[in-house]
Amino acid sequence: MDFKDTPEEAAYRKQVQDWLAANAPKRGADGDPEGGGDLTAAKAWQARKAAAGYAQITWPKEWGGQGGTPIQQVIFNQEEAKYPTPGNPFQIGLGMCVPTVATFADAETKQRFVGPALRGEEIWCQLFSEPSGGSDVAAARTRAVQADDGSGDWIINGQKVWTTGAQFSDFGIVVCRTDPNVPKHKGLTMFWLDMHDPGVEVKPIHQMSGGSGFNEVFFTDVRVKDSQRLGAVGDGWKVSLVTLMNERLAVGGATGAGWAEFMEAARSIPSADGASALKDGALREKLADWYVQAEGLKHTRNRTMTALSRGQTPGPESSIGKVVSAVQMQELANSAIEMLDQYGIINDPELAPLRAAFQSSFMFAPGLRIAGGTDEILKNIIAERVLGLPGDIRVDKDVPFKDMPTGR
Ligand SMILES: Cc1cc2nc3c(=O)[nH]c(=O)nc-3n(C[C@H](O)[C@H](O)[C@H](O)COP(=O)(O)OP(=O)(O)OC[C@H]3O[C@@H](n4cnc5c(N)ncnc54)[C@H](O)[C@@H]3O)c2cc1C
Repeated sequence: MDFKDTPEEAAYRKQVQDWLAANAPKRGADGDPEGGGDLTAAKAWQARKAAAGYAQITWPKEWGGQGGTPIQQVIFNQEEAKYPTPGNPFQIGLGMCVPTVATFADAETKQRFVGPALRGEEIWCQLFSEPSGGSDVAAARTRAVQADDGSGDWIINGQKVWTTGAQFSDFGIVVCRTDPNVPKHKGLTMFWLDMHDPGVEVKPIHQMSGGSGFNEVFFTDVRVKDSQRLGAVGDGWKVSLVTLMNERLAVGGATGAGWAEFMEAARSIPSADGASALKDGALREKLADWYVQAEGLKHTRNRTMTALSRGQTPGPESSIGKVVSAVQMQELANSAIEMLDQYGIINDPELAPLRAAFQSSFMFAPGLRIAGGTDEILKNIIAERVLGLPGDIRVDKDVPFKDMPTGR
């Protein structure tokens, strides 16, 4: 099998490489895998990409994209990853929220939001998960009730949680319960809202990494216009599926310290008998397992790349990538910390080996196994949609939402 670029892809890669060589930052990586990083630097880099048409390559030219193909976007991402660019706080907005707005809002709203989001001037967040439902987004309890003053406005009350980037977001898309009398998937409606509304309260969640990448968000009588509704009343589940489809493509695999860094560390660490840690039998067994997984992943990615290269949409098998790579990232990090012995507990990039790359992965990996679909949910997708096994049992599918047991 030949997975090399086609002549057109190779020409595009060269064009991207030349542009990045002239424009990408050469220093300044902040090692912030949660995507916040230095907001000013991130906005400047986004504006520069947008000016050159590289911000969203697949978007049409009239939106500021290149009208390019998904494979061109993949090529750009691969090449950009070679540079220490700032974190990407725009990924959720551009990858999920704005495409949802663009699909369901009127032309004027679309026109208002697409350009500023593309240029990094406005940031969006995805307000789906709640204390009552993350995997089960359809269990949302945040209520939107139409005001009784004849304005047609909606009043939102409730709480979301794990909202990435809410602390610096300007807008969000929020899925709300508008009808509790019908089964859970049928009584939801989606809106966009202004995060600066006084009824929106954002409380950052402090993480073990020291960062606060995501938040609790509380809504108290937040008034939104009916024109801020995305899709029909009661169609919020269908609208959220559009967002979630985009999420599966955007979340991707693990990007932290990997195989190459592990080998570098293992070679340089002496074992008890003075040889390198690479001579350790137990470690060699793990290395063999990871190697097999890495090869499997490489070929699964090649399958996705081939589908994109042929202009096809990758199938549900791309869920395999995150399940395997997030677990591998966690195992690599755990073993590396153990191998580094007392140095493993030093989390300061100035002092720790490999600028604390494994310490950072160690703390980020558990979140990656949950974000964008937990291991179990992705395995269900693989079982049902890739392997064609019988579906998960869904007992609450036809029960009116208000009659679902809550444990209270
Ligand atoms: C880094 C990070 C960023 C995030 N960013 C956002 C964001 O920006 N916006 C947002 O809305 N949400 C966000 N989330 C939330 C994320 O979508 C949810 O955490 C995730 O969907 C899981 O939901 P939950 O936490 O409610 O766990 P639950 O759904 O309660 O799951 C608990 C456990 O039960 C298992 N489980 C649940 N259902 C099944 C089933 N049917 N079969 C088998 N096992 C099952 C799960 O796998 C898990 O182990 C983020 C999460 C993380 C970690």
